Amino acid sequence: MDKFPAVLVTRDDATKQQSVALTAIAESELMDGDVTVAVEWSTVNYKDGLAITGKSPVVRRFPMVPGIDFAGTVTASAHPDFAPGDAVILDGWGVGETHMGGYAGRARVKGDWLIKRPAAISARSAMAVGTAGYTAMLAVMALEKHGLTPARGPVVVTGAAGGVGSVAIAVLAKLGWHVIAVTGRTSEADYLKGLGAAEILERAELAGAPKPLAKERWAAGVDSVGSTTLANVLSMTRYGGAVAACGLAGGMDLPSSVAPFILRGVALLGIDSVMAPKALRQAAWARIVADLDLAKLEAMTSEIALADVIGTAPDILAGKVRGRIVVKVA
Ligand code: NDP
Repeated sequence: MDKFPAVLVTRDDATKQQSVALTAIAESELMDGDVTVAVEWSTVNYKDGLAITGKSPVVRRFPMVPGIDFAGTVTASAHPDFAPGDAVILDGWGVGETHMGGYAGRARVKGDWLIKRPAAISARSAMAVGTAGYTAMLAVMALEKHGLTPARGPVVVTGAAGGVGSVAIAVLAKLGWHVIAVTGRTSEADYLKGLGAAEILERAELAGAPKPLAKERWAAGVDSVGSTTLANVLSMTRYGGAVAACGLAGGMDLPSSVAPFILRGVALLGIDSVMAPKALRQAAWARIVADLDLAKLEAMTSEIALADVIGTAPDILAGKVRGRIVVKVA
C-alpha cells in the first residue's frame, strides 16, 4: 500500500506522555470522511505549536496527525459539492485536534468542512494566510459589522509581529486605518511599517496593572494576546469603540472591569475561527482575496519542509516566529 509522509503525535497510555515524530502512514490509517485530499501546503499556527509540544491538551485523539489547516486537491469524493481535481482549503473544525490534519500527504475529512480555494489565490498563498490570517480577517469583519470605520480613529493590533497580527496590520492599513502595532519585538519596527503600521507601541506599555479606564487612544482593536494586554487595550478604547478578541498568546485570563463597557459603551467582540459557519468562511476568504496585498503576504511568509515542523513548534510558542510560516507538504 502507498505510504506518504506524516507528522504523527502518539501517547503512551501508561505515562500519558505524548511524543511526536515524522513517519509514513497509509490512507487506511486516516479517519472517516467523505472527501480525500492530496495535501500540498499547510502552515504552523500557534495552536499547532501547542499540539506538537503538548503544552496544552490540544490533541484529544491518538494517534493524531496535527496541522489545523491545509490546502490541496481532491483525489476522491462522495460529497456532492466536491469532485477529484477541486482545489480546496480547510481551516479548523477540530482538524489536527480530534481529526487527523494537515501535516501529512493525504487528509480524509468531511466535505462540509472544506471550502473551494478562490482561483485568485494559490495553494501556497492560501496557507500563507492560513488560519491565523483568516482569523485576522474575521476580526476585521467583526469590527466593520460593529459599524467602525477608519474615520472613527486609530486601530490597535497586539501581537503585531505574529501571524494574526501581521495579516491584520496589512489588511487594516489597506482599508485606510491608522494602525498602531503593539509588539515586544521593536527590532521588527521596519517589518511592521512595511506591512502598513503607522505607529509602533512597545508591548511593555500595555503590560502594567490595568486601570478600569485610561486615556482614550484608539477606536478599535484586534487582540491576539489576551490577559493584561487585552485589559489595557479595553481601558484605552474610545467611547463607542470595539475590540475583537482572537487569542491568548499572553494568557487566557482577562483582568479587566466592566468600566469600559458601561461607561464608554465599548464592545468586546469574540472571534472564533474553528466552528465558524461556512458562509462566514467564504465571505472571509473573498475579503482576503480583495483586501490582502499578496506582495505584503509574501513579505511576511517563510517556508519550511514538513520535516522542520516539529523543530519549529517551540519557536512559535516562544513568540520567535515572525509573520507566517508555510509548510511544503508535497
Ligand atoms: P503567533 O505566535 O504568530 O503570534 C502571537 C504574537 O503574540 C507573538 O508573535 C508576539 O508578538 C505576541 N506574544 C507572544 N507571547 C506573548 C506574551 N507572553 N505577551 C504578550 N505578547 C505575546 O501566533 P498566531 O498569530 O498564530 O496566533 C495568535 C493567537 O491567536 C494565539 O493565541 C492563537 O491561539 C490565537 N488564534 C485564535 C484563533 C481563533 O479562532 N480565535 C485562530 C487563530 C489563532 P510580538 O512579538 O509582536 O509582541
